[in-house]
Amino acid sequence: TWSTRPQRLLKAVQKKATRGDPQSVISAIDNFCRHKEWAMNVGDEKGAILDCVVSEVNPSTALELGTYCGYSTVRIARLLPPETRLITLEFNPDYAVVARQVIAWAGLQDKVELVVGASGDLIPQMKQQFGVKEFDFVFLDHWKDRYLLDIKLLEECGLLRRGTVLLADNVICPGTPEYLEYVRTNPRYESRYFKSHLEYTKVEDGLEKSIFLG
Ligand code: SAM
Ligand code: MG
Repeated sequence: TWSTRPQRLLKAVQKKATRGDPQSVISAIDNFCRHKEWAMNVGDEKGAILDCVVSEVNPSTALELGTYCGYSTVRIARLLPPETRLITLEFNPDYAVVARQVIAWAGLQDKVELVVGASGDLIPQMKQQFGVKEFDFVFLDHWKDRYLLDIKLLEECGLLRRGTVLLADNVICPGTPEYLEYVRTNPRYESRYFKSHLEYTKVEDGLEKSIFLG
């Protein structure tokens, strides 16, 4: 019968992963995407870099732009200390339905607030509607032409503090040239590239880690 890729990915999780075990959810998704159907998750190779940065920052308030099926949400949330909140934004309601089930299968629903809507509409509401003071960590992985607009919006809304760490995926493939130029030349950021490969391929891609200096 007819189904979408996110629905098939969810089925693989329900079949192969253990409830309440985030690592088994991550492995089930990586296996499905490597051997059955490619999907736009950050993946295992860049995921290891994401894990290192999240552990190093040890954020108490984190934001993810672009949830898709919740793969990176699970990766990030599993590393967060108790009491920490991860807000993740996704504008496609069908993806959000799948992501909620993936996150719940991993047992991480209490750490994650998945909000359905467009980043450009939701970022300005973070203080008033979501009670956020500032973010300690932001993972950018939504549509690539939004990265620059949305960090400027985060700056304007006062959601970045001195030391906030931004981590941007896919800065080489598909690529985010205006964003890279901005964080690399702006004296308010200290920026560094982590070379890796596009998820589940051998094509070069990487993550850009940028520290906001205030
Ligand atoms: N971070 C996910 C992971 O690694 O598992 C993958 C995210 S996928 C590459 C990008 C997602 O961002 C898509 O699901 C898309 O619908 C969503 N998206 C794109 N632009 C958005 C926006 N402006 N606001 C909210 N969601 C957006
Ligand atoms: Mg990505």
